[in-house]
Amino acid sequence: MSRSLLPVVCCALGLLLPLMALTSSAPTDISQKAHDLHFRSIVIDTHDDTTQRLLDPKFDLGVRHPDGSVDIPRMREGGLGGIFFSIYIPGSITGPEAVKRALDQIDAVRQTIAKHPKDLALAETAEEVRRAHREGKIAALMGVEGGHMIANDLGVLRSYAALGVRYMTLTHMLNTDWADSSTDKPAHNGLTDFGKDVVREMNRQGVTVDISHVADKTFCDALEVSQAPLIASHSSCRALCNAARNMTDDMIKALAAKGGVIQINYHIGFLDQKFRDAEAAHPEIEKEIEAETKKRCGADESCELVEGDKVLREYVEQGKLPRVEWTEIIEHIDHAVKLVGADHVGLGSDFDGANMPFGMEDATHLPQITDALLAKGYSDSDIQKILGGNTLRVMEAVEATSKRLQGEKP
Ligand SMILES: [Zn+2]
Repeated sequence: MSRSLLPVVCCALGLLLPLMALTSSAPTDISQKAHDLHFRSIVIDTHDDTTQRLLDPKFDLGVRHPDGSVDIPRMREGGLGGIFFSIYIPGSITGPEAVKRALDQIDAVRQTIAKHPKDLALAETAEEVRRAHREGKIAALMGVEGGHMIANDLGVLRSYAALGVRYMTLTHMLNTDWADSSTDKPAHNGLTDFGKDVVREMNRQGVTVDISHVADKTFCDALEVSQAPLIASHSSCRALCNAARNMTDDMIKALAAKGGVIQINYHIGFLDQKFRDAEAAHPEIEKEIEAETKKRCGADESCELVEGDKVLREYVEQGKLPRVEWTEIIEHIDHAVKLVGADHVGLGSDFDGANMPFGMEDATHLPQITDALLAKGYSDSDIQKILGGNTLRVMEAVEATSKRLQGEKP
């Protein structure tokens, strides 16, 4: 979840976020070489908020939907082989309620996998992702988006790990009691002593430390304490778009130096400086979009999910907000690759939790990324690393660290 505009600010307000527009454009034509490379690769997306839809008993992930960005038919069409379902509740919800709601979402993901055994396989290790791919299934994984969901209890963290959670974002948009967020006032100068214990326990449990959303100092502390590589599950490059949620060049270099991966976020407010500037210059637009969405939907949250983004796109089409093209995703990938090489960059779309650029409305558009990287002269092997190989490498390193810390032979 990464929205910055809209009835969108759900993150802060505790509302559900609007999903992508209904008016999805058809994927652009790609070369045969790109098609072949893409569909023989293991393509992994490390951040999807589709989980919020899974909570609706009427929603079926197995059928194609005219709205939102992700369902099984569209993952198949886009060659998506691994998806991290985000377990997300707003940071304002803490304590037992946070744990209950996180468990409800973990259950929803696991029930969805159980309902679609021919298409989905729960994956807790890199090898299980590879096995799912060999068997023609989509690997389903889980990441907890916000350390507030452990309710300051390492036992809860261990329980999430036992249920299959394989990364945890240390904060969401608000500070936790033990870590500063990039979008809240600093309260702890990064990680507290308990926050460092959380990172150590994540290392032991084989839960990857995710530094998307955290304050820069929290990132530095987590990098220093963690014995395993870290990821930014859905962050882009601050040099190209000055959002606190994005990573500076120095942070990307430090992350890479410890073997980690920045998974590029497709949210328009993190990709495009012009869009951010327009947002900042016209705060009234956010209020108008929110009001229009409320007018269309009343208190119907599932309606808001769809309509909010439609309204935003109407503003773009009327020229009131800049139009952001999907090719900016490629610019962020390329910037990070030029900084640290192709071993440290991946994909973390934020589908179903953010505003997607034109031409990347849903998972069916993913092969365009492979095509664009080939056109830029990237090698097949570098593209395969970016598509998913780097994520698998980090998972293996995290698994080996966990085994070592638990006294097993790696
Ligand atoms: Zn997020």
